This record gives sequence, C-alpha cells and structure tokens, in this order.
Amino acid sequence: MGFLEGKRALIVGVASPRSIAWGIAEAMHEQGAELGFTYQNDKLKSRVEKIAAITGSNIVIPCDVASDQEIDDTFTELAKHWDGFDILVHSVGFAPRDQLDGEYIDVVNREGFAIAHDISAYSFAALAKAALPMMEGRDGSMLTLTYLGSDRVLNGYNVMGLAKASLEANVRYMAANLGPRGIRVNGISAGPIKTLAAAGIADLRKMLHHVEETAPLRRTITPREVGNVAAFLCSDLASGVTGEITFVDSGYNILGMTGLS
Ligand code: NAD
Repeated sequence: MGFLEGKRALIVGVASPRSIAWGIAEAMHEQGAELGFTYQNDKLKSRVEKIAAITGSNIVIPCDVASDQEIDDTFTELAKHWDGFDILVHSVGFAPRDQLDGEYIDVVNREGFAIAHDISAYSFAALAKAALPMMEGRDGSMLTLTYLGSDRVLNGYNVMGLAKASLEANVRYMAANLGPRGIRVNGISAGPIKTLAAAGIADLRKMLHHVEETAPLRRTITPREVGNVAAFLCSDLASGVTGEITFVDSGYNILGMTGLS
C-alpha cells in the first residue's frame, strides 16, 4: 500500500511531460493518491488531459492564477468531484522574458516586477485561500517549488530571485497561519532542470553543465526526484514538518567556492 493511499491531491503547474509538477504527479500517483489537475490556458488543455489520463484522472480544470475569478471557479468545479482534498501542489512560476535577459538593474521594471511576484509568489497564497474550505480538518498539506536564486545571486535569474524570496517567506507565513488549522506548508528548492519555464533563463545550458561539474552528486536532478520528496513531504510520514524549504539539488546549495584546484 502506498503512503498516500486515501489522499487527494490537486496539482497546479503541469505544462509538459518535463514539468516538475508531472514528476510530482507520477510520484504521488505511485503512492496511491487520487489526483486532480489544472491547466493555464486552452493551448495546454489537451496535453494536460492526456497526462492526467495516465494517472486515471478525469479532473482537469482551467486555472490562470492571474485571475481571482478563475481561481474561485477552480474550486467550485473541483467540489463537483470531491467533497474535500488533502494536498495542494503549486508548481507555477513566470516572469516576462525581457526580465531574464541582461543585468538585473538594467532590465528590471515596475511591470516585470509586479508580474513575476503576482504569478510566482502571490498565487500560492491566493490558491491557498480559495482551497481552504475544502482542505480544513483533514491534516492537509500545501507545497510549492522554489530555487536557490531566492537567496544567492545567479546570473540572469534576476527578478525571479526576488519573487522566489517572497514565495519562501509566503511558505513561512502560511505555515504559521495554517498550522493551527491542521495544514502544513512546505517548499522544495529544486536544482536546475530543462523544462519549458527554465528555457526562459538565458544561461540554463551553462547552469546544468556547472551543476554536473561541481555538485556533490556530480549530476543534475530529475522531476521525478523532486516528485519523490514532494510525495514524502505531503504525506503523513512528514507530519511534523512545516514551514521548511527542502533542497533537492544534488547538494549544490552547500558549496562555497568551487573549481579552484
Ligand atoms: P514548467 O514550464 O513545466 O511549469 C511552469 C508552470 O507554470 C506551467 O505549467 C505553466 O502553465 C504555469 N504557469 C505560468 N503562468 C501561469 C498562470 N498565469 N496561471 C497558471 N499557471 C501558470 O516548468 P517547471 O520548471 O516545472 O516549473 C515549475 C516550478 O518549479 C516553477 O515555480 C519554477 O520556478 C520551479 N523551479 C524550476 C526549476 C527548473 O530548473 N526547472 C528549478 C527550481 C524551481
């Protein structure tokens, strides 16, 4: 029997078979969770439907997290399938491409800053607020995806680093607020993986190579490795863990100076 048997999880953020959210869905499905999915827009609908079907799910709901109305409608629709659910996975990030190309101070602007923070950080709290009525009283768990650029400077990550710092603070404030209501909130800081979102980062290829050369495990990680940790963190096995950011990055974050010898 899987350790998520009897749990229901809503997965927000599948865009392709390479998505980290898909690695999470696969791992949770393998551990016995029942899954529901959202998709950002019509372009992604059939792709997400196909991916959902692999896990035996026919719950596939539109949700652009930039819209409060679509967020509310998501849970109205979800309530037609489930009377409650246990796990909310937020695997969403976005900044306009011009924000990720060039020196931070040269390219940052008010609009790019606002969009990056709205979609990548606020949306976690927005989804949580709307999900609460269906999650309270069930030992629930919420999870988001972050990156080392939140507290280290990484070339080209720019305003996404600021948005991830905000997202990680979001994890802590949400964990403090929702703990007394029986819900744990955690984040996973994943190492670089070639996904659609990551393709927007100009130096991605060099970053992947650098991790392979220097990380303690001398390799990059897979969405499924993130998924396995996500499944654990959202299960009762992690019942004492909340407000944490857990690294799944081949150990890269522990390094100081590398490549001097
Ligand atoms: P991805 O492109 O597969 O997923 C990003 C998802 O965000 C997509 O499903 C997209 O539809 C969704 N999204 C963007 N704007 C949205 C909106 N307005 N409404 C609803 N959904 C929206 O890429 P990924 O790498 O799997 O990204 C998932 C998360 O993991 C992101 O938060 C990303 O920052 C984070 N992350 C990625 C890496 C990496 O190297 N790939 C590393 C660490 C953290």
